[in-house]
Amino acid sequence: MSIIIEARDVRYTYPGGIEAIKGISFHIRQGEKIALVGPNGAGKSTLLQMCNGMIRPSSGTMLVGNTPIKYNTRSLCDIRRRVGFVLQNSDRQIIAPTVYQDVAFGPTNLGYDKQTVQDLVEQALQQVGLTGLERRPPYQLSGGEKKRVAIAGILAMDPDVLIFDEPTSGLDPAGSEELMDLLDELHHDGKTIIISTHDLELVYPWAERAILLLNGKILEEDVPEVAFGDPTCVRLAHLSLPVLLELSQELTARGILPTLHMPKTILDMIHIIESQLSTPPSKTHGSIWVYDVDKRQSTQDLMLHVQETKAQAIGAMGTRAKQCMKQAHIPLDFSYGVIDKSILRALRGEDTFIATSNKMVARIQMRIDAYNQESKNNIKVEIL
Ligand code: ADP
Repeated sequence: MSIIIEARDVRYTYPGGIEAIKGISFHIRQGEKIALVGPNGAGKSTLLQMCNGMIRPSSGTMLVGNTPIKYNTRSLCDIRRRVGFVLQNSDRQIIAPTVYQDVAFGPTNLGYDKQTVQDLVEQALQQVGLTGLERRPPYQLSGGEKKRVAIAGILAMDPDVLIFDEPTSGLDPAGSEELMDLLDELHHDGKTIIISTHDLELVYPWAERAILLLNGKILEEDVPEVAFGDPTCVRLAHLSLPVLLELSQELTARGILPTLHMPKTILDMIHIIESQLSTPPSKTHGSIWVYDVDKRQSTQDLMLHVQETKAQAIGAMGTRAKQCMKQAHIPLDFSYGVIDKSILRALRGEDTFIATSNKMVARIQMRIDAYNQESKNNIKVEIL
């Protein structure tokens, strides 16, 4: 994968004299999911703003697509189109009196004609699940909806990279999970995603790579299980270990697990524990029913299949599938980490119904096949 953003020994001192970034080098590859983690004041926002040219380093070089950023109006406009930035506070990002006008702002400024702007806005609103709210004034929306308007405004310019500064701050746990699922969907659509946060628990299973930042310097940079796995490092950064890592370390220290594992999910943990049992519990596995909402487009058909499968748990993956379930008034047992949660239910002997869009069907099948192969289980996936 090619490098899309690179920092070469960048430093930044604010006009008041605070040195926020103290010599940092890193690179981000196309298609990665990166978490920039650190306590308040670590320099996360400053560093992110350097990635799309909003802040110019006092020294060192920032590169986008292997080219050093030139800080003139023309190249900055081009970089901001390629590297979209979703601010922490949506109220600061949303500026227009209606949702439509706000999302249209970027593509209109890029000089597209009226019809193209309309198409881009419609597509962006559909991607974030806000179709139908075009005429609403943003101030009437919930915090989660405002965040989605801000994201749609960026998506309408079709950037390669999406940067989110503390995307879940101010959202409730369900809203945070919905947002993380949306980020997964955008990643699945080919976007490179970078988020900053101090919520290790949230990004631990999500990120492919984590950069731990403290006092303007990189403390650790690795896959999350390694970057977050060192208790001294994590404590130094005023953060807490993800609970699964803490539990795994405790079980190993007590000799309950013979070697230290780094489980990323509850499913991993269950697998590790079961592999220690002399006689693993034998049970008939449940099945996972996958319903493609793009293939069959009627609410009635959806309701009929939910009833027919008699699944004990129901999940939806992706924005469109969640909307279809909402329209059909079908309550969801899970809307984030759906595949793993469905596998866990299947291991208990329960059936799960997953509604999803066409592009996700193969991903579900692949993930469950991989799990079956690794764990020598035989959970059945039935594509409806
Ligand atoms: P984080 O996003 O990790 O909370 P920031 O990048 O916002 O960290 O801040 C890094 C350091 O820079 C902090 O010491 C902060 O006080 C300082 N800082 C941030 N913004 C400004 C600003 N506009 N003017 C002066 N100092 C700032």
